[in-house]
Amino acid sequence: MSVTELAPADVWRDKIYSGGWKTGGAGAMPVTEKATGAELGSIGCASAADVSAAAAIAKEAQSAWAEKPGPQRGDILREVVRLLQVHRDEIALQIVRETGSIRQKGQMEVQMAIREILEAAALGSQPSGMITVSDVKGRHSVARRIPLGVVVVITPWNSPFILAARAIAPALATGNAVLLKPDPQSSVSGGVLYARLFEAAGLPEGLLHLLPGGADTGDALVRDPLVNMISFTGSTRVGQAIGAVAGGLLKRANLELGGKNPYIVLDDADVEAAASAGAWGSYLHQGQVCMAVGRHLVHERIAEAYVESLVRKTEALSVGDPFKGNFHLGPIVNERQAANVDRIIEDSVSKGAKVLAGGSRDGLFFKPTVMVDVAPGMPVFEEEIFGPVAAVTVFRNDDEAVTLANQTRYGLVAAVVSADLRRAQRIADRLHAGIVHINDQTIMHEVFGPMGGLGLSGNGQNYSTLTNADQFTEWQWVTSRESLPAYPF
Ligand code: NAD
Repeated sequence: MSVTELAPADVWRDKIYSGGWKTGGAGAMPVTEKATGAELGSIGCASAADVSAAAAIAKEAQSAWAEKPGPQRGDILREVVRLLQVHRDEIALQIVRETGSIRQKGQMEVQMAIREILEAAALGSQPSGMITVSDVKGRHSVARRIPLGVVVVITPWNSPFILAARAIAPALATGNAVLLKPDPQSSVSGGVLYARLFEAAGLPEGLLHLLPGGADTGDALVRDPLVNMISFTGSTRVGQAIGAVAGGLLKRANLELGGKNPYIVLDDADVEAAASAGAWGSYLHQGQVCMAVGRHLVHERIAEAYVESLVRKTEALSVGDPFKGNFHLGPIVNERQAANVDRIIEDSVSKGAKVLAGGSRDGLFFKPTVMVDVAPGMPVFEEEIFGPVAAVTVFRNDDEAVTLANQTRYGLVAAVVSADLRRAQRIADRLHAGIVHINDQTIMHEVFGPMGGLGLSGNGQNYSTLTNADQFTEWQWVTSRESLPAYPF
C-alpha cells in the first residue's frame, strides 16, 4: 500500500472487497462528490450471489478468528488506528467530498472513530466470562461470552465513517466476521476506507467484506441463512422492515434510527449561548444528523430574544462547497432530500408557521432557516427534516415543555438548558429519550456513554464501551465435573 494514499480510485474501481478485491456481480455505480456532482470513481455492486459467497467465506474464516487470543485481535484494531492517524487528512477529505459535510465534521468523524476502535480493541483484553456458583458440589460452572458468528453492518450516508466504526470494531474484537454494506451515496467513506485499513493492518482474509449496493443487497444480507446478527443504522422506515425480517428469522437486530429531538430552553438560560448551541445543533451537516436539534422549545419570557439571536446568527452563516472553502454549511445530499425539505417548509407555512430567515435554496445549497409559530400537527414539528431548519415552538411553563418534548413517537435525544441545574434535572427526568443532555445541545457522540434510542428511534440496543460486549456476543453456560453422576434410571 502506498504510504501517501490509502484508497486510490484504481484499487476499488468497479470492485467489491470479498476475499480480495474483485468484480461485483451486479455491475458498478458511480461515487460522486455531493457539492458538484462530479464523479470521483466507480465502485462495484454486490449481487445476491456475491452476498451468499461472502457469507460462506466469512463463516469459514470466523472460526479461526474466534480462536485467536483476544489481545491479538485487539492488536489488529490498534494497528488500524495507527494507520488511521497516518491517513486522517485523506479520510476527512473523502468524507467532505462524498457526504458534503464541512471539514470540521469530517475531522470529528475520524477522531470519534479512533476512540471507537481503541475502546473496541480493549474488549479483546477483557474477561470473557465468569465462574458461576452451582447447587451441586463438584460441578464446575462457567458463563462465557461467545461470538455471534457473521455480523452484517448496514450504514447510512450521513456519518458513514463513524457509524461503521462503532459496529465493525466491536464485532471483530469480540471474534465475529463482518459483512459491511454502506449506503450507495457513501461507498468509499463508509466502506472502501475500512477495507483498505483492515487489509493493511493484517486482518486475516475473509473476515471483513465490503458489499456495496442498495436495498436489494441489504435485503439479501439480512436474509442470508449464515448471517447471525444485523447492526443497522438508518431511517425508521427501513429499520422497521429489517426488524420484521430479522425477527421472523430469529436473528439479533440492533436498530439505530431517526430522531426528532427536542431542545428545551428555560427562561433563566443565557439566551446568546443557548441560541448559539441551538444553531449548531440544527445546522451542523445541514441538519442531516439523527441527533440534530429538531425542535427548539423556548420559554415565552425569552422567546423574542432567543429568536432574534438565532436569526442574527443564522443570517451570518455561509453556504458553499466545503471542499473548496471554509463554509459553515455544505450541500444537501441529493435533490430528492432537498425537495423534501422544501415540502416540509411549505406545508408548515400553509398551516401557520413563519419563515424568519432562509427558507430557500440554490440547487442543493439550502440557506439555514429559522421558522417560528411552529405547533404540533405541522410537518416541521412532526417529521425528521434532515435539512438546516431551526423550528421554534414557545411554551409557558415546565409542564408544557415536557408535554411538547414528549409529543413525538421518536425518542433519540433530548436536551434542557437552564441556569438552575435542579430544575433542568427535574425536567430531564420526565423526558422520553435514550440520551438526555443538560446544558448542551443534542448532537454528541462518545463511545463511553450508551448510545441508543427509544420508541421509533430504535430498539434500545446501545453501542458503547459499557454495552458492546453484550451486543456482539452471546452467553454460553458451560458445566463440567470429574465424572458422570449416578441417575435413578
Ligand atoms: P436509509 O434507511 O434510507 O438507508 C440506510 C441503509 O439501509 C443504506 O445502506 C441503505 O442502502 C440500506 N437499505 C435500504 N433499504 C434496505 C432494505 N430493505 N434492507 C436492507 N438495507 C436497506 O437511511 P439514510 O437516508 O441513508 O440515512 C438517514 C437516516 O438514518 C435518518 O433517519 C437518520 O436519523 C438515521 N440515522 C440514525 C442514527 C442513529 O444512531 N440513531 C445515526 C445516523 C443516521
